[in-house]
Amino acid sequence: VTATIIDGKVIARDMREHLKSRVQALGEHGVTPPHLRIIVSSDDADQTLYAGRLRKTGEALGIEVEVENISETLTDERLAGEIQEVNRDPRVDGVIVTMPLPRELSADTVYSLLDPAKDVDGVTVANAGRLYLGQAAHPPSTASAIMDLIHSVAANVRGMNAVVVGRSAIVGKPTWLLLMREGATVTECHTGTTDLGHHTRQADILVSAAGRPKLITADMIKPGAIVIDAGINETDGGITGDVDFPGVSDTASAITPVPGGVGPVTNVVLLREVVLNAESRARAV
Ligand code: NAD
Repeated sequence: VTATIIDGKVIARDMREHLKSRVQALGEHGVTPPHLRIIVSSDDADQTLYAGRLRKTGEALGIEVEVENISETLTDERLAGEIQEVNRDPRVDGVIVTMPLPRELSADTVYSLLDPAKDVDGVTVANAGRLYLGQAAHPPSTASAIMDLIHSVAANVRGMNAVVVGRSAIVGKPTWLLLMREGATVTECHTGTTDLGHHTRQADILVSAAGRPKLITADMIKPGAIVIDAGINETDGGITGDVDFPGVSDTASAITPVPGGVGPVTNVVLLREVVLNAESRARAV
């Protein structure tokens, strides 16, 4: 390994320290703690685990995290009612609805009804539109985390060639927009791309969010590239990313490991948006 390992755990720890002091400062000014509401509509173990982890991380920072499970009544009316209630509740700074929703519910209910200001994970149509238009928005947390990881080794991406593999609404597409907004020249690759390596070999910054183990191999990397691996794949050998780490880490200049790269930063970025909202609430009074 010759590349710098971009250690997501260390970056996340530093971000948590910083957030904790911001939350403390709010308290010292008599502001009620930042409040995150997580709406869970499934008994799926992954979603329960996700909500529990987020609560634990948030509470350690002084953020109130309330998890609400609505899986006993799976109707869009109930979901819409919950969303309207949190939209109105002045205590609530941020809302997350864990996905995927059970088939009885429509994600459109969340995308169209949730107050974009409280949509800290940037899933609503309004936030996606604002991001597209270059307006202030809450971007999806994974895309934001990817940008933080890039910035840890390259403060300024202007003029760089970036390649994003994956075009999902929560990772690939918003990452393309955020990189472009900062002046990178971005190529967006996906399952329709012929000769992926032809594109990735031009990349000063390569972001992979495809969910395909060993998709990105050493021969596809421009020497000295920054490689951000957002993939999470369960394989017989454990959790791996999309990047063939042993080979690529000898060609890249910096690389995120999986696990321990994008994942740990994503949740903290989400909580940062909650704190940001609480700070705006404090300024408004
Ligand atoms: P998705 O399945 O919605 O999208 C995958 C994208 O990759 C698609 O747009 C597809 O076109 C592209 N793709 C798939 N195979 C490809 C190939 N062979 N060549 C080129 N493009 C290909 O997935 P998603 O929700 O965007 O997540 C992507 C990965 O990131 C998954 O492994 C997921 O687990 C992970 N993820 C990580 C975090 C985190 O916090 N670290 C958060 C969300 C998702």
